[in-house]
Amino acid sequence: MNELSTVTETATAKAAPALPDAQEVTEVQHYTDTLFRFRTTRPRSLRFRSGEFVMIGLLDERGKPLLRAYSIASPNWDETLEFYSIKVPDGALTSRLQHIRPGEQIILRPKPVGTLVLDALLPGRRLWMLATGTGIAPFASLIRDPETYERYEEVVLMHTCRTVAELAYGRDLVAALRDDPLIGEFADRLRYYPTTTREESPRMGRITDNMTSGKVFDDLSDPAEYVVEKAFVGEGI
Ligand SMILES: Cc1cc2nc3c(=O)[nH]c(=O)nc-3n(C[C@H](O)[C@H](O)[C@H](O)COP(=O)(O)OP(=O)(O)OC[C@H]3O[C@@H](n4cnc5c(N)ncnc54)[C@H](O)[C@@H]3O)c2cc1C
Repeated sequence: MNELSTVTETATAKAAPALPDAQEVTEVQHYTDTLFRFRTTRPRSLRFRSGEFVMIGLLDERGKPLLRAYSIASPNWDETLEFYSIKVPDGALTSRLQHIRPGEQIILRPKPVGTLVLDALLPGRRLWMLATGTGIAPFASLIRDPETYERYEEVVLMHTCRTVAELAYGRDLVAALRDDPLIGEFADRLRYYPTTTREESPRMGRITDNMTSGKVFDDLSDPAEYVVEKAFVGEGI
């Protein structure tokens, strides 16, 4: 399952009732029966640090806001906001949120918070990002922020899901990075390490197992390649 709908397709969608802190959904893409992403308009006043989360939601049956924490998956420079969401079958919010369509509205409280941000990190050469499932969302923001590459020479993104289809959001994101006019130049410095735990795939295993066994370090330490200038060979230099 991989369906994408954008606001242009449903621009004629019925007018939604005005919500408090309403933002309009502009794009929805379903990956599996448990995962989808969507984009919304961004409040003009909203400033956030890549990696932070906000409270978003819908009105419940009694007309009260039903809100949940969501990482902003888009980077802080983006004009729209992206969210990557689970669909919990009986989840109070996501059993309904999974049916949102472009042109409809969600509630977004414009008070971003969170500690998965660059300012919270010590300096270093390599930044490791470890995520399972929708936990990739804050990293989806950070790998699209140029500041991440200004601070770190290399960024490793490990993402583990049960099945190959559940990796699609991260895989597509990393693939698109290369063509991004703002981030493309850094694409070679992002090392992407996706694994599955249930379905057979080229790389398997839990993040913790792949780290404690040393497998991920072996896999990522490609043998260095050297170019030797032959003109100097044998000249006694
Ligand atoms: C700081 C923070 C950031 C978050 N960011 C995201 C995000 O970017 N995307 C997202 O989908 N969720 C995120 N969540 C979880 C989110 O707040 C909701 O729990 C989720 O949307 C389900 O809401 P619900 O009302 O349908 O079900 P809830 O009643 O909230 O949850 C029901 C049960 O579903 C399971 N569950 C909830 N969320 C998840 C999940 N993401 N993955 C797997 N199982 C889950 C748990 O077992 C939970 O007890 C975040 C939570 C926190 C605290």
